[in-house]
Amino acid sequence: GDDVLTFGETMVALRGSGPLKLGGSMEVSIAGAESNVAIGLARLGHPVRWAGAVGDDEAGELVLRTLRAEGIDLCDVVRDPEAPTGLILFEPRLPDVTRVHYYRAGSAGSRLDPGALERAFTTRAPRILHLTGITPSLSPSALATTRRALELARAHGSLVCLDVNFRSRLWSAESASAFLSTCVPYVDVLIASDDELPLCLPPEAGDEHRPADATTGTAAGTTDLAKRLLARGIDEVVVKLGPEGAVSHTAHGDLHRPARPVRAVDAVGAGDAFVAGYLSALLDGEDAEARLDRAVTTGAFAVASHGDWEGAPTRSELRLLASTPGTVVR
Ligand code: ATP
Repeated sequence: GDDVLTFGETMVALRGSGPLKLGGSMEVSIAGAESNVAIGLARLGHPVRWAGAVGDDEAGELVLRTLRAEGIDLCDVVRDPEAPTGLILFEPRLPDVTRVHYYRAGSAGSRLDPGALERAFTTRAPRILHLTGITPSLSPSALATTRRALELARAHGSLVCLDVNFRSRLWSAESASAFLSTCVPYVDVLIASDDELPLCLPPEAGDEHRPADATTGTAAGTTDLAKRLLARGIDEVVVKLGPEGAVSHTAHGDLHRPARPVRAVDAVGAGDAFVAGYLSALLDGEDAEARLDRAVTTGAFAVASHGDWEGAPTRSELRLLASTPGTVVR
């Protein structure tokens, strides 16, 4: 096959325009890191399947209707009759500060179980399995599902891409590291921010996990950590550097791509868009340089558009970024 399988929790997202406690109107959409990647890939023309769980409720209908409209294969979706679809509220509080409120504990998405992934691999073993470090933080069964997905991918020869996506609201750095470091031997492509790399290695004497401390992300430190990850069996470590672009580390060396200059309006979703661009080029058989090029391009589209996934480009739109400012494309 030439397809991607991904799974995780996708929630209904409500976005207000000011302090939540003042009320007013909100925009209704959906949010989920893995489904953002799925949408990005589908827009670029790749077959992609999402195998998450939603409640048997109208919020779940919204999630599925949106993903279906984007052309994502939902044949392995789980409808959980006993738990609601999760909810996330975005509260823009200052021009550059948005608070996030979760209503997801015990949600259908967090109750995903390993059987769902077994059924998905029975449907068809994908060429690529994409997962994130959010899913194992949601519940013990979601963690077991993540572990089972890695085993199934290995058994079926699927390439595994893991985006660390550490969420300190959902689990501690210690818990994340204890689990993620055991995932590394199953992972082919690891995508992370520079401050997330230490979470993927077992602690060494003298090491400290300081994922929230940007000072650990020095270039030398990052290269050293990437080397240690390559030595543990990963083929490529891709480090996202926000407005600084991204770096790819492989056995052949390091490759840096600057970010595409755009007017940033909404940084949320940039990482997921970046992953979609990267995997798209990987599916097309492109080399590391072209993979990074497409990733920084799709990342820039996300930053330049409102919403997590709405601005994801189609294949013919990729070249729009090369247009000079003020261009009217006819
Ligand atoms: P998020 O969790 O908000 O989705 P992230 O931390 O996972 O983001 P970033 O490193 O912020 O990921 O962004 C991913 C990629 O998007 C970057 O590697 C870069 O290529 C692109 N990008 C991010 N910020 C900008 C920006 N201001 N201008 C242009 N491109 C950007």
